[in-house]
Amino acid sequence: MNISFLGAVHVIGIGGTIAYGFLHGFSAFALVLTFLWTAFTILAISAGYHRLFAHRTYEAHPVVRLVLLAFGAASFQNSAIKWSSDHRRHHSRVDTDLDPYNVREGFWYAHIGWVLRQSDPSIVPTPVKDLQRDPLCVWQARHYPLIGAVVGLVVPTLMGFAFGDPWGGFILAGVLRLVLVYHTTFSINSFAHIVGTQPYSDRDSSRDSFLIALISGGEGYHNFHHTFPADYRNGGLPHQFDPSKWLIRTLEAVGFARNLRRTPRPAILRAQLRMDERLLEGRALSPASRDRLHSIRTALHEQLDRWHALVARYETLKRDASAQARAMLADLRAEIRQSRREIRAAFATWRALLRSPELA
Ligand SMILES: [Zn+2]
Ligand SMILES: [Zn+2]
Repeated sequence: MNISFLGAVHVIGIGGTIAYGFLHGFSAFALVLTFLWTAFTILAISAGYHRLFAHRTYEAHPVVRLVLLAFGAASFQNSAIKWSSDHRRHHSRVDTDLDPYNVREGFWYAHIGWVLRQSDPSIVPTPVKDLQRDPLCVWQARHYPLIGAVVGLVVPTLMGFAFGDPWGGFILAGVLRLVLVYHTTFSINSFAHIVGTQPYSDRDSSRDSFLIALISGGEGYHNFHHTFPADYRNGGLPHQFDPSKWLIRTLEAVGFARNLRRTPRPAILRAQLRMDERLLEGRALSPASRDRLHSIRTALHEQLDRWHALVARYETLKRDASAQARAMLADLRAEIRQSRREIRAAFATWRALLRSPELA
C-alpha cells in the first residue's frame, strides 16, 4: 500500500505540476498556498508530531494540539501515535537493527526504503501509553486518513475553487506539497545521520547541518537533538535557524504553550567541551600548549562541577517551604547566575585557545 500511495503521489505531484505549468501556467495564488501549506505541514510534523507528541518537550493548549494533529495528518506519515512510537524506538535503538530508520542499512533505506519495505513482524511496537490516553491523539489515530485527506487535499482544492484555480490548489498545494514534505522529513532520517558535524556527541550517527535545518523547520540540528532529546529546541544556540523553536516560543508568549523544557547552557557547554577533548586526543602538541589547555580545561571542569552542585542544592531546597529556605533560594539563584557567567567566559577562553595559530 505504501509503494502504491507514494508512487501515485510522486507521479501526480511531479508529473501533474509539469502538466499544470504547461496547460495553465503557475498562478500566484497556487504558489502562495503551496508555500503556506508546505510550511504548516512541516511545522506540524516538527513542532507537533516530533517535539510535542514524540518527545513531550512542552505542553500545548488543546486548540494548538488539534491544529498540529490536523496538519500532521495532512503529511500522510501515519497517526501521531504510530509516528511517535517509531520515533521513540529510533532514539532508544538508534543505529541498530531495531531502529526503524537505521542509517547503517544505507542512505536509501533510512530515507525511504524503510517505508516501502514490510516491517519485521517480530518487532514489538514501542508503547506510547501517554499518547494512547490522550483523547485528541486517539481521535486523530482513528480518523487519520480522512483528516489528512480533508486538510491536505480537499481544503486547498476548495480554496483553489474560491480563487479560480482548483487544479493549482489540488496539484501544487495538495500533492506536490506532500512530495516536498515527505522528502524533508525523510532527509532527517537519511542526510541528518550522514552529512554534517557532531559538536555535542559522537555516541551515534546523528549530525548537525544548517542546510537540512533550512528545509525542515529547524530539525537539521540533529546531533543536538539526539544529545538533548528532551529540549524543545533543535537549534540549541540562539542564532541557529529553527522556526519550530520560534513557533513554540511565540505560542508560549501568547499563553498557548507552557513548561518548555530547555537544557541548561552549562550542560550544553560540557558536551561541547567533551567533543573538543576528543578531537584533541592523539594530536601532537607542544608541551607549552598542552599545559595551557590542561589548566583551562581543569578550571572549566571544576566550574561545571560547582554549577552542577549548586543546581542540585537549589532543586533540593525548592522542596522546602520554610521562610529560611526561600531566602536561601534567592541567594542560590544569584550564585547560579554568576556560575553560568563564569563558565561561559571560561569556555570562550578555551575556544579562543583552540582557534589560536599554535593549535589551529
Ligand atoms: Zn527526535
Ligand atoms: Zn535521528
